[in-house]
Amino acid sequence: MDLGLAGRVAVVTAASKGLGRASAEALAAEGAKVVLNARSADLLEEVAAGMDDALVVPGDISDPDLPAQLVQTAVDRWGRIDVVVGNNGGPPSGRAFEVDDEQFLAAVDGNMLSSVRLARAAVPHMQAAQWGRICFITSVAVRQPIPDLALSNAARAGLWAWTKTAAADLEHDGITVNLACPGLHATDRMVERGVTGRAGDPADFGKVVAFLCSEPAGFVSGIAMGVDGAAVPGLL
Ligand code: NAP
Repeated sequence: MDLGLAGRVAVVTAASKGLGRASAEALAAEGAKVVLNARSADLLEEVAAGMDDALVVPGDISDPDLPAQLVQTAVDRWGRIDVVVGNNGGPPSGRAFEVDDEQFLAAVDGNMLSSVRLARAAVPHMQAAQWGRICFITSVAVRQPIPDLALSNAARAGLWAWTKTAAADLEHDGITVNLACPGLHATDRMVERGVTGRAGDPADFGKVVAFLCSEPAGFVSGIAMGVDGAAVPGLL
């Protein structure tokens, strides 16, 4: 299947490791040019070294100005932005009544607003081209909250609600907005923690993200695609 991503230009945040890195690598393997972000420049350079055409922009994606800078970097270098994949590390754990306002606001900033800002910066360019793909990496928690991850549950559910609203607003612009919702995946972080149970391969997850960002997925918008090996028992 031709995903139609050759020559497309993408920004992927939190892309030095794990699911973000796998998503960037899957897009690059399809011939996309990629702007890579995470905080650690060294790791990003390693990722970029395995790609044909990639730029590295280190920084904390919670910085309100960074998402627009990432999009502008792509436009300045390649004259376009076609795909954005919003990702970040997860917020700290804590049950519903254990988290304070400061932590709550940081989680909303890092795991909700950073992605909204990325889309906000990219959409005018995508509207001009009448083509765009926006994908946010979230969690199964948007469907089934995880008891000791109250911050993640709340921030990601907020992003999901915004995504549904945005998808409808972009319906006639050739732009899709979706979530990719991982269940347990064997990223280095999870392997180091010794998490047990059936786990997905991050490289496969990256290919699912690449599909959601592909040409043939142009009629797939406003969905939260579970990539969880049937871990979520509900119907939605
Ligand atoms: P990971 O392997 O720990 O990778 C996290 C990535 O985020 C790294 O590239 C890290 O690079 C980057 N990052 C962290 N904080 C950042 C910041 N402030 N600004 C920019 N980049 C930042 O994590 P993962 O397992 O791939 O998980 C990715 C996301 O999926 C997380 O939100 C996680 O909660 C969620 N998730 C994962 C699983 C799973 O099983 N893996 C399941 C459900 C949900 P630097 O440290 O260099 O910045």
